[in-house]
Amino acid sequence: MFKGILIEKDEHGLRAALKDIDDGALPEGNVTVRVAASTLNYKDGLAITGKSPVVRKFPMVPGIDLAGTVEASSHPDWQVGDAVVLNGWGVGEGHWGGLAEKARLNGDWLVPLPPAFTPAQAMAIGTAGYTAMLCVLALERHGVKPSDGEIAVTGAAGGVGSVAVALLAKLGYTVAAVTGRPQEADYLKQLGAATVLDRGDFNQPGKPLAKERWAGAVDTVGSHTLANVCASTTYGGVVTACGLAGGFDLPATVMPFILRGVTLAGVDSVMAPKALRLQAWQRLATDLDLAKLGLITRTISLAEAIPVAQQLLDGQVRGRVVVQIAA
Ligand code: NDP
Repeated sequence: MFKGILIEKDEHGLRAALKDIDDGALPEGNVTVRVAASTLNYKDGLAITGKSPVVRKFPMVPGIDLAGTVEASSHPDWQVGDAVVLNGWGVGEGHWGGLAEKARLNGDWLVPLPPAFTPAQAMAIGTAGYTAMLCVLALERHGVKPSDGEIAVTGAAGGVGSVAVALLAKLGYTVAAVTGRPQEADYLKQLGAATVLDRGDFNQPGKPLAKERWAGAVDTVGSHTLANVCASTTYGGVVTACGLAGGFDLPATVMPFILRGVTLAGVDSVMAPKALRLQAWQRLATDLDLAKLGLITRTISLAEAIPVAQQLLDGQVRGRVVVQIAA
C-alpha cells in the first residue's frame, strides 16, 4: 500500500481525498518511481477542485510533476536508483500522477534530475518553472536581447511568473512585473523586477495599437491582458503566450502583427519534445538563482495539498508550492 491523493467521481460529483492505495492499482508503465516530492500547479488546482474538467479518467491520482528515485524499471534508459523528474505528458490528467508516494510511468517521459537540484528544488521549479524557462528560450530563439528593452511578465506573483521574473533578471533583462497583488511588490523586486505594474491597467478592453513599450513578454494570463501586451509591444518584439489565468479568449486585432511585425509565440510544456525539455532543465541549472528559488517556494504535506489547491485557484498562493512526500 502507498499513500496518495485520489480523485473519485460518482453521481454526487467529484471528490479528492488522501487514501491508502494498493500497489496493484498502479497503472501500466515500464518504470516505477518512489516519489520524493511533487508540487501544485494551476492545472493540479483545477483537477483537485474539479473546477475545470482536466481529469479525463477516474479514479485519478493528480499531480502533473514529480521527482523521485527509480524503484523498478524495464526501460533501457533507467536503472534502479536513478534520480528522475517528470513534467506533463498528460500525467495527473489521463495517467496517475505525482501526488502519491509511488508512480508507475512510461520511461520515455522521464528526464534525469539535474545534479544541481534536490528533488524538492526540482519541484519548486516544476512545470511552472520549466514553462517559464521554455518562454525565455522562445524569446532568445526569436532574437530578443537584454539591450532591446523591457520585458513584461504577467501573472508575475504566480508560479510561472515568479520563476520567469527571476530567470529574466538573472540573464540581464529589465523586467516589468504585472500583478494584481500590489502587496507583493517587494517580493517581485527581490526576484529582480525593475518595475511593478497593476494588472488593472491590462485586463480591460484596450486599443488595437498602444504606445510601444515591450521588447518581449511572458504572458500567463491570456484574454485582454495578452491582447493589450501585444498592442504595446515594440516593432519586431516577441510575446510568449503560455497561460490562461485570466481567460482563454484572445480579444485582439491583427494590427500589432501586420504593422509592427510582432511575433506571438505559443509555449506548451506538456507535449514538448525531450530535447527541448533537457535543454530547459540544463538552462534552469545554470540560470536560476537558488536563493531566489527559496524565496519563491513554500513546502506543504500531501494532506495539505487539497486545501491549498483551492487557495491556488483563488489567487492566494504566491510563487511555488512544493509537496514534500518522502521524509
Ligand atoms: P498560478 O496560480 O501560480 O499563477 C497565476 C497568476 O495569474 C496568479 O498568481 C495571478 O498573478 C494571475 N491571475 C490569476 N487570476 C487572474 C485574473 N483573473 N486576471 C489576471 N491575472 C490573474 O499559476 P501558474 O503560474 O502555475 O500558471 C499560470 C498559467 O499558466 C495558468 O493558466 C496555467 O494553466 C498556465 N500554464 C501553462 C503551461 C503550458 O504548458 N502552456 C504550463 C504551466 C502553466 P498576480 O497575483 O501576480 O496577479
